[in-house]
Amino acid sequence: MENIAELKTFLSIPKDIVICSHRNPDGDAIGSSLGLYHFLNKMGHTVRVVFPSEYPDFVAWLPDAESVIIYDIESDRAEEVVDRADLIFCLDFNSLSRIDRLGEYIGGKDTPLAMIDHHLYPDLNALYEISDPSSSSTCELVYDFIQMMDMQKELDVPIGECLFTGILTDTGSFKYATSPKLFRIVAHLIEIGVDDYKIQDLIFNAQSEKRLRLLGHCLANRMEILPEFHTGIIYLTRNDYDVFNIQRGDTEGIVNMMLTMKNVKVAAFIMEQPTIVKLSLRSKGDFSVQEICQKHFKGGGHKNASGGASYFSLKKTIQKLKDILPEYKTALDDAKPY
Ligand code: 5GP
Ligand code: MN
Repeated sequence: MENIAELKTFLSIPKDIVICSHRNPDGDAIGSSLGLYHFLNKMGHTVRVVFPSEYPDFVAWLPDAESVIIYDIESDRAEEVVDRADLIFCLDFNSLSRIDRLGEYIGGKDTPLAMIDHHLYPDLNALYEISDPSSSSTCELVYDFIQMMDMQKELDVPIGECLFTGILTDTGSFKYATSPKLFRIVAHLIEIGVDDYKIQDLIFNAQSEKRLRLLGHCLANRMEILPEFHTGIIYLTRNDYDVFNIQRGDTEGIVNMMLTMKNVKVAAFIMEQPTIVKLSLRSKGDFSVQEICQKHFKGGGHKNASGGASYFSLKKTIQKLKDILPEYKTALDDAKPY
């Protein structure tokens, strides 16, 4: 951030601050938002976190998670805090379209924005900006931000637990986008008192029986492997949603299971939702799924984790993906998985 000095001066007197993140917030979205929230609170600001939709249960234990305002549930209250804000932080997303109606509301104001994000191709008119697609997570960038503010001494367990959570989930338990710098940050968080195993237990050993049975169903009955394209597809029908009573967060991580196959370089999870068909794509190594999502499914994200949507039927969407794959045949054959 080039204008960090300006932001430091701005934040040297107590301000009203809103922090928002994307729809269906994941560990990094809520971890970075609450981490920054605790930090700015400590600096004496009045801070509110606003998400377009609810966060999953596996992060509900994060300190002060219950204080988050959900636009879908309390839009009037969310709009009130946005109205009062002197500055709005946008965390873990880089385009107002990713936060739909909340984005329209914020876009209609002239409140300055501060973006901290690690997705490709930012499209946000922010006065202050930390955008680094090479970073593991927005949580890593919030740590960098605290360092840029010369306030590392303010790091404490609540801030650390939030930041550790997003780093843990966005790196797939320290598998992707790691670096010596990231491990130093994590070491520092553990030094100040973050209990790393406690957080792993709270996040990963919190599966319901229903979710494990759903995973079994996906692997046994809904998975198709296309060896010639090094691709695996899992789909879920609207009927599956009813039969398994699938709720927010229940499908999280299922797509990654296919990447545990040696020959699979791309994994697609295709969900028939009430009005759209949603796609989640993952890849290993140097094959990018970002382009497929952006070019063919009005989406985007990262090289190895992207998403998008389709307005065709489930069957047609699966066929559309299969029709696209030959275009990438050489790239898929050549891609190194690591
Ligand atoms: P997921 O598959 O877990 O929903 O998302 C994976 C990544 O792709 C996330 O970083 C997310 O921000 C991004 N992503 C998911 N869906 C969309 C979408 O519809 N549009 C864009 N631009 N990015 C998406
Ligand atoms: Mn993230």
